[in-house]
Amino acid sequence: MQPFEYVRATDVRHAVTAAATGPAAAFLAGGTTQVDLMKDGVLAPGVLIDITRLPLRGVAASGGMLRVGALTTMEELAADPVIAERLPMVRESLLLAASPQLRNMATIGGNLLQRTRCRYYRDLSCACNKRAPGAGCDALKGHHRMHAILGTSEHCIATHASDLAVALTALDAIVHVRCPDGERAVPLTGFYRMPGDTPGVENALGPGELITSVEVPLLPEGTRSGYLKVRDRASYEFALASAAVAVRVSDGVVRDARVALGGLATIPWRSRAAEDVLRGAAAGEQSYAAAADAALAGARPRPGNAFKVELGKRTIVRALSLVAGAPG
Ligand SMILES: Cc1cc2nc3c(=O)[nH]c(=O)nc-3n(C[C@H](O)[C@H](O)[C@H](O)COP(=O)(O)OP(=O)(O)OC[C@H]3O[C@@H](n4cnc5c(N)ncnc54)[C@H](O)[C@@H]3O)c2cc1C
Repeated sequence: MQPFEYVRATDVRHAVTAAATGPAAAFLAGGTTQVDLMKDGVLAPGVLIDITRLPLRGVAASGGMLRVGALTTMEELAADPVIAERLPMVRESLLLAASPQLRNMATIGGNLLQRTRCRYYRDLSCACNKRAPGAGCDALKGHHRMHAILGTSEHCIATHASDLAVALTALDAIVHVRCPDGERAVPLTGFYRMPGDTPGVENALGPGELITSVEVPLLPEGTRSGYLKVRDRASYEFALASAAVAVRVSDGVVRDARVALGGLATIPWRSRAAEDVLRGAAAGEQSYAAAADAALAGARPRPGNAFKVELGKRTIVRALSLVAGAPG
């Protein structure tokens, strides 16, 4: 690990000011991504700003919204009674991620900003445009099994790793950010950047910007939701494909629907195309299959991950069937 300066932030302003010294600064929350990548030499910040003592922890409900402090742990959010009752897809996305030990350390802000699990990104002997812009991408001609089929470019095919971000994308959550010169709010649907020709730019945050909280709108009463994650083993594994879905069905017709996908794309992938197919359609497998076709229509698979097209479709159909068929 390269030497770095350690700063313990005393308040939010101090954290942001200290981080604004340049792109070589990074925040430390639970450390479950940041420290791993520093040990491996993938990240080498000059200054590490410990934000764990800042008052950014807790969940508060008001006016149809939940405000989740950035330092709330994954386990705390999963245990929140409003989440359990009104947003099961958020709870499921959390409890199907990592392990209890990790979830007790890992924070919501850190989860949204975790890095890809692409092995070429994490292995310094491989070329990676995300880690070293312009270096090339060994994943393109490597093993693609875990890589993306949606939102890729000729410069990067790494998947986004967060399960929670998929559920929050389906819910139109809003990220609240403290900047050196004020505050701003960024919809999660516009927060992440597809790789294009700058895979190193992953999100809308500028240098020194700190996530302070995430605002999560509750779903209307009568809406059912769930998160289905398909992976190589039943726990402690990232998604090959996942779907966060929410549907409101009455008189056998889908009145409203939300669909977001994980494990398949370079960013948490909201599928408006699938939602458009579902809205007004008869609830049932035929409509769900049509929605799944629409969601995967733009897929660009490679030989090693072509199976993900069918897997993604089946994940969507099964998620919708499970959620729409569940008792109210
Ligand atoms: C073995 C293993 C298995 C895992 N499995 C899963 C899984 O199945 N699904 C899943 O979704 N995740 C999984 N994870 C990832 C885990 O959820 C993340 O590592 C964790 O959520 C990161 O949170 P943290 O608080 O530890 O962040 P840190 O490691 O402290 O930070 C992560 C990044 O976010 C930045 N950061 C942190 N907080 C803020 C903030 N408030 N504002 C601005 N920047 C900030 C840091 O500078 C750093 O760049 C796994 C991790 C491990 C190690």
